[in-house]
Amino acid sequence: MPKRVVITPDALKEPYGQELYERITNQGLAVEILKNNRITGLRGTTERETYKIAKNTLAIVNAPPSSFNLRPIPPSADWQFHLAEGCPAHCQYCYLAGSLSGPPAIRVFANLPAILDSLYRFERLNQPTTFEASCYTDPLSLEHLTGGLEKTIKFFGERENSYLRFVTKFDAIQPLLNIPHNGHSRFRISLNAEPVARRLEGGTASVSARIKALRKLALPREQGGGNYPIGIVLAPIMPIPNWEEHYNALFEQLEQHLDFPCDLTFELISHRFTPGSKDVLLEWYPNTSLEMDEATRSTKTNKFGGRKFVYTKEVMKQLKTFFEQQIVRRFPKASILYWT
Ligand code: SF4
Repeated sequence: MPKRVVITPDALKEPYGQELYERITNQGLAVEILKNNRITGLRGTTERETYKIAKNTLAIVNAPPSSFNLRPIPPSADWQFHLAEGCPAHCQYCYLAGSLSGPPAIRVFANLPAILDSLYRFERLNQPTTFEASCYTDPLSLEHLTGGLEKTIKFFGERENSYLRFVTKFDAIQPLLNIPHNGHSRFRISLNAEPVARRLEGGTASVSARIKALRKLALPREQGGGNYPIGIVLAPIMPIPNWEEHYNALFEQLEQHLDFPCDLTFELISHRFTPGSKDVLLEWYPNTSLEMDEATRSTKTNKFGGRKFVYTKEVMKQLKTFFEQQIVRRFPKASILYWT
């Protein structure tokens, strides 16, 4: 629950903005109507204070016109679009640190229905098109306040050849189990070895709660499940001390819970950081134990000259082999979408 909720005048003009206003007010939270469309009061005297204020602020705004111009998002999906920006959790490696600028307030988009209605422009003719909705937020983390994910899943359930993908570290899946998704939404859960999750993923659901949620999502409807296609995103993979033992324990738990045929994919993402994301993360989490030592990493440069630090070739090879072998052995029917 945020400490402060604000709505802009433009957002309040949107029917979904009204709905958000009422839904959040009904949960006992006061929603402040702003005088103009600028969100102020997010800065404290230090970066850490700004972080605290912003993370506790939920702003209902209209997404800017650029949000209607979708960008590709390989290798995860064809296109990305956004229900919101920001997330109330506190992962010390959070990938938003490198992609969103300014204080990390949570912005929920009141013009979501218009964004959804515009997606058809990006659909490919007679071919499936995939849309990723969790590049800038964890959509399930806000669902109790917004209901936006339910709207989005239903929307894709009615599209003929469009598919939604999103990922979460939360487990409040119950309200989404019985909605008509028509198999068009792949519900992915992000998981990690227990010591990584415990040490670095503040404010998220525990790993075992996420795995239980995953089972429920995949179970057939007649067994009380959601009958969703599911996905496991293992991220960020880190060679912590005794990593084989810890990740093996995670796979064991997964195998026990997914002991029935289901439509399952894996995405494998090793830890990486950029000079910019490292600076932001160290401001947000000055006492973090997250390893971000450039000296032990390899450098990758993109076509715009941006640098990121990844594990060395040898470490990558060891990790990749281990994860692929585990998956092939334990989940022979699942597909591995990519390793990065
Ligand atoms: Fe960032 Fe995802 Fe953690 Fe939220 S759940 S803080 S978006 S890494």
